[in-house]
Amino acid sequence: MPAMERAMKLHILGCAGGIGGRERLTTCLRVDEDVLLDVGTGIADLDIDALVRIDHVFLTHSHLDHVAGLAFLVDAVQGKRQGAITVHATPKVIDILKKHVFNWAIWPDFAAIPDHENPVLRWQPIAHGAAVALGERLITAWPVNHTVGSSAYWVRGSRDGFLFTGDMCTTPALWPHLANEKLLSKVIVDCSFTNVDRELADKSMHFCPQTLIEEIKVLPVGVDILIYHLKPGQEESIMQELQSDGARRYVAVRRGETFEF
Ligand SMILES: [Zn+2]
Ligand SMILES: [Zn+2]
Repeated sequence: MPAMERAMKLHILGCAGGIGGRERLTTCLRVDEDVLLDVGTGIADLDIDALVRIDHVFLTHSHLDHVAGLAFLVDAVQGKRQGAITVHATPKVIDILKKHVFNWAIWPDFAAIPDHENPVLRWQPIAHGAAVALGERLITAWPVNHTVGSSAYWVRGSRDGFLFTGDMCTTPALWPHLANEKLLSKVIVDCSFTNVDRELADKSMHFCPQTLIEEIKVLPVGVDILIYHLKPGQEESIMQELQSDGARRYVAVRRGETFEF
């Protein structure tokens, strides 16, 4: 291992499937100090100095619990930083956010503030399967089934990496992309509902324990499975149901936790 390699840090700012108290902030993961994966209400934990250091945002999809904080982030740092925050997402997700959020009616178009030449927000369409290199880190989006244009992100540092699925339901085509990734040590995956609510989970395109256990049978048992997007009030029941899979251990990821890769 080269002497200069340094660990990539992951900080869970929010990972709940809804709000309700200090521990339930919605999806926002920070990689080192400059990259966010989704910008849900978890962003509210960062002070202005930390907000100004965010240079890249990668969005899994356009649902409000994953993007609401983006509106406030660009507003908070406008005039306080050099250059734009680059927001990476699929063309479909970008279209939706431009049309329905940053349209001057719901929120100003920050891609034109203070002007089109030097905006505080810059949209960057991603292509599934094409890695974005940020220093030693490589971030690759793969399509998942949830809503229009949804992506999972495979985030690789120089030593180790993790998959963040975003919200998703069964997507058999996802896993072969990761089969040969020797550095994959953790998968942070949606499991929103209990088995009783399987119909609702299917309809809203999320996992419940039954469907998740079946889905990840293809993954090596050595990969840690971290559960996120648990519905408020259902956390313990969902985690208990997951323990019926004797083959693996499932751990609920918590707000404020940090990991090194
Ligand atoms: Zn969603
Ligand atoms: Zn969500």
